[in-house]
Amino acid sequence: MPQEEGSADLNIVIYNCHAHVLTLKNTPERFYGWFSQFVMKYRLLRPLANFLHAVNPLSDKDAWSRRAKFISQGDQTSQEDVLKGLMKYYPPNAKQVVLSVDMDYMGAGKAPLTFEDQIKELASLKRKYPDHIYAFIGADPRRPNLFGLVKKYCETEGFKGIKLYPAMGFYPFDERLYPVYEYAEKKNIPILVHCKKQSRAVYKGIIPESWLKHPKTGEPLERKTNIDFSANWTDPDNYLYVLNDFNNLKICFGHFGGEMEWKRYQNEEDPDEFQQSWYNKIKKILMNPKFPNTFADISYTLSDFDLLALLNVTLLIPQVREKVLFGSDFYFSNLECTEYKFCIELRKELGEDNFKQIAEINPKRFLS
Ligand SMILES: [Zn+2]
Repeated sequence: MPQEEGSADLNIVIYNCHAHVLTLKNTPERFYGWFSQFVMKYRLLRPLANFLHAVNPLSDKDAWSRRAKFISQGDQTSQEDVLKGLMKYYPPNAKQVVLSVDMDYMGAGKAPLTFEDQIKELASLKRKYPDHIYAFIGADPRRPNLFGLVKKYCETEGFKGIKLYPAMGFYPFDERLYPVYEYAEKKNIPILVHCKKQSRAVYKGIIPESWLKHPKTGEPLERKTNIDFSANWTDPDNYLYVLNDFNNLKICFGHFGGEMEWKRYQNEEDPDEFQQSWYNKIKKILMNPKFPNTFADISYTLSDFDLLALLNVTLLIPQVREKVLFGSDFYFSNLECTEYKFCIELRKELGEDNFKQIAEINPKRFLS
C-alpha cells in the first residue's frame, strides 16, 4: 500500500538500513537449488502455487505465493525496477540502504551479470536517486584488487558503505580484508555484515579437508551441510578479532543473529543456550564500551512478531537502544512477510518513540 505525502509519516524520516535490489541476472546459476532453478527457468512458480492450492486448499498456499512473489520481484529487467517496487511502500522522503552482494566466489557458477556489472548499475541508480539511496559495496577477500575497487566506489561513485557476506565462504578476520578495515575505520565508513546463523545463500562448493579447523582457535570443525557449516564463518565471535584490531570500526551486525537465535535466547530449559545464543553474543558486543561504533539491524528477524517483546525489552537497555537499526531485508524478507508488515505494522507495534530511535536517530549516526 503506497503511503501518501503529507501523512504523519513525514514526522519521521525512515531509513531502511538493509535492502537489496539485485535481480535474478545477478545471481549465479546454482544459487537456488535445482528444483527452484527449473521452476524459475520455465516461469512455473505462480502456476505451481495455484495448482497446489487447487489440489489441497489447505496446503500452505501463502508460503508458495510468497515464493512466487519473491521470484517475481527478482525477475525484473533492472535494479531500478526492483527499487521502485521497494520505494512505493515508504513515504517519499524515506532512505534505502541498498546492499550489493559479491556472489562471484560462492562456488555456484556464473551469473548472467558479474559483480562488477551489478555495482556499475547500482552506481548509476545512485546518480539517478541521490536523495533516496545509500549504496554499499559488497566485499569478498577472494577478489583480486578488492581494496582498489572499494576505494574507487567510495571515492568516485558515491558509495557510502561496505557489505560483507561471510556465509559465501570466508572468515571476517581474513587478512585480505585488513586494508579495507583500516580504510573504513580511518574514513568512518560503515560496514554491514550478514550475521544470521541459518542462511539460505551460502557457499555452494565442496568443503575441503583443510577447512575443518577454525583458523584462529584451532578447534576441529565438524563436516556438515554447507548451510550448517556457514555458521562457522558467520559467528559473531569472529568479529572480536577484527574489533580488537580496529576498536572504532563502524560495524552493523545484519539480522542481529537471526530469528532462531532470538528464540534460542528465550529457551528457558537450558541456561547455557541463552548464553551461547547469537542474540546474546551480539548484545554483549554492543554493550562493550571498547567498541563504541557497533550496531545491529533487525531485518528479516523481526518478520516474526513473536519476537517483538524481546525487541521492546532490548530497547530498554540504554547502551543497546542507541545501536539498533531498522531494516527490512527487502525483498528476501518477503519470503516471510510483506514489506507493508515490516514498515507499517512493526512501527505500530513498537510505538513512535522506539520506531524513531531505530528508524531515524540511530541510522543517521550509522551513516554519518
Ligand atoms: Zn540481506
